[in-house]
Amino acid sequence: MPQATKHISHWIGGKPWAGSDPARRGDVYNPATGQVTGTVDFASAAEVGAAVEAAAAAFPAWRQTSLTKRASVLFSFRELVRSRAGELAALISAEHGKVASDAAGEVARGLEVVEFACGLPHLLKGGFSENVSTGVDAYSIRQPLGVVAGITPFNFPAMVPMWMFPIAIGCGNSFVLKPSEKDPSASLLMAELLAEAGLPDGVFNVVQGDKDAVDALLTHPDVRAVSFVGSTPVARYIYETGTSAGKRVQALGGAKNHMVVLPDADLDLAADAAVSAGFGSAGERCMAISVVVAVDPVGDELVAKIAERVARLRVGPGDDERSEMGPLVTGAHRDKVASYLAAGVREGAVLAVDGRQHPVSGGSADGFWLGPSVLDHVTPPMSCYADEIFGPVLSVVRAPGYTEAVEVVSGNPYGNGTAIFTNDGGAARRFTHEVEVGMVGVNVPIPVPMAFYSFGGWKSSLFGDTHVHGTEGVHFYTRGKAVTSRWLDPSHGGVNLGFPVNS
Ligand code: NAD
Repeated sequence: MPQATKHISHWIGGKPWAGSDPARRGDVYNPATGQVTGTVDFASAAEVGAAVEAAAAAFPAWRQTSLTKRASVLFSFRELVRSRAGELAALISAEHGKVASDAAGEVARGLEVVEFACGLPHLLKGGFSENVSTGVDAYSIRQPLGVVAGITPFNFPAMVPMWMFPIAIGCGNSFVLKPSEKDPSASLLMAELLAEAGLPDGVFNVVQGDKDAVDALLTHPDVRAVSFVGSTPVARYIYETGTSAGKRVQALGGAKNHMVVLPDADLDLAADAAVSAGFGSAGERCMAISVVVAVDPVGDELVAKIAERVARLRVGPGDDERSEMGPLVTGAHRDKVASYLAAGVREGAVLAVDGRQHPVSGGSADGFWLGPSVLDHVTPPMSCYADEIFGPVLSVVRAPGYTEAVEVVSGNPYGNGTAIFTNDGGAARRFTHEVEVGMVGVNVPIPVPMAFYSFGGWKSSLFGDTHVHGTEGVHFYTRGKAVTSRWLDPSHGGVNLGFPVNS
C-alpha cells in the first residue's frame, strides 16, 4: 500500500510558503526503502524574487540590530539545535540515508560553526590607529553586504548550510538558502528553530528547487554574494555566472582525496583510517578518502588489512543503530557508482573487494544499496581514478617511492583534502609543505578544519579566493571600510590642495 507523503515547501518572510505550480515539484525518497516519502516544491523565479524581497526588506533593521543582540539570537539557536539534535539527525538520515551516528556527527560539526558565530562581536572588531597624522585618527570597520545566498549539496543538508548562514546573519546580512532538492527537510527545521530563537522574519529564507531557482538567485540584482558547495562543473558555472552578474562568489567543488601510506606507517592504523574515511557516509563526503597511495612495499599487506575490515562492515538502514554504512542517496547515483567497478576492471584494475556482493542487514530490497568495494592497482588514466565517484569505492594506487606518491596527489586536478600516514616527522613535514592540496592530515584521514579555521580546497575544488567559515567566512560576508577622522582643534586651519600626507 502506498505510504502518505509529506509536502515540503519554501520558507519566506518567517513562515512556510507553498509553491504555486503543482507541476514543478520533485520526489524525495527514503534511500533505505526506495520509497517516495515526500514531494518538494521547486521555486520559480517569482518565488525566488519573493524570498529576496523579504530578505531585502528585513536587512536594514537587522543590520541596525546591535551585535550583542544578533549574537544572542545565535546563542538561542545553538541551544535549540542542541535540544532538537536527535530530530534533526533523524530527518537527515531519513532523506539522505546516512546512519544515525553519522547524521548526529554532521549536526555536531555544524553546531561548532554556530558556536564560532556566537563570537562574532569579537571577530568584527576593527583596527584603530591614533594620531596617524597630527590630530588625525584612522580606523577600519567591516560591514554586512545585504542579501546573500547559499546553495548547498545533498551530502550535508544541515552542516553545509550551517557553514554559511550563522556567520552571514551574525555579520548582519539577510540570507536565502537553496538546499539540495534530494533532502530538503532539514532546512525547514533549521528555519523554524531560527524563528523560535528570535530571528526577525525575513532574515533567513529558504527556497527549494532546482537549476531554475539557482539561476534566479545568480542573476537577481539584490543578491550581493553567493556561497556554493557542490560538484565541480556546477561550482564553475556558479562562479562564472555569479561573478559576471557582479556578485561576490565562493564556490566549493568536488574532490578526489588521497591518503599516502609510507612504508614506516603503522599499517593497522592506516587500514582502520582508510576504511573509516573511505566508507563513512557511504563515501558520499567531499573529504572522503577515495584513493590510497600505497608506497612500496606495503601495497599487498595494506590491501589485505583493508579487505579484512571491509568484509566486517555492517551495511543497513540509517535508523538501525547497528548499521555502519547506509544506502546511497538515489538509485541513479547507486547505479553510476557501481558502473565504475566494471569500468575499472575493463581498464586493468583488480577488484579486490566487490561491494555488489556485500550483505545488507535490514531495510528493503528496493533500497539504494551498494556495499563497500576496493579497486587495486588503479592508475591515473583509468576512469575510476580520473572521475569523482562519490560513493563507497576505494581505489588503491601503487607508488614506488615518496616522490612518485606526492606527484600523484599534486598532479590530480582536485585539491580538497589529503593525508599522509607515517611515523617519520620529517617526511610528514615535507609533505605538508609541498603537496598541492588545501587541507592536509598527518595520520588524520579526514582533516576537516575546526570552525575557527577555514574550510576549502585548491584547484578544481574551489572557485573564488575565500574559503568558508573561520575568519575567511567573516571576511566573505562583510566588506571593509577605512575611516580617517580629525576632530577640529584650535590648531586646525588653512587650505591645502596637495595630496594628503602625514604631518
Ligand atoms: P550538485 O552540484 O549536483 O548540487 C549542488 C547544488 O547545486 C544543489 O542545491 C543543486 O540543486 C544545485 N544544482 C545542481 N545542478 C545544477 C545546475 N546545473 N545548475 C545550477 N544548480 C545546480 O552536488 P550534489 O550532488 O548535491 O553534492 C555532491 C557534490 O558536492 C560532490 O561533488 C561533492 O564533492 C561536493 N561537495 C563538496 C564539498 C566541498 O566542501 N568542497 C562539500 C560537500 C560536497
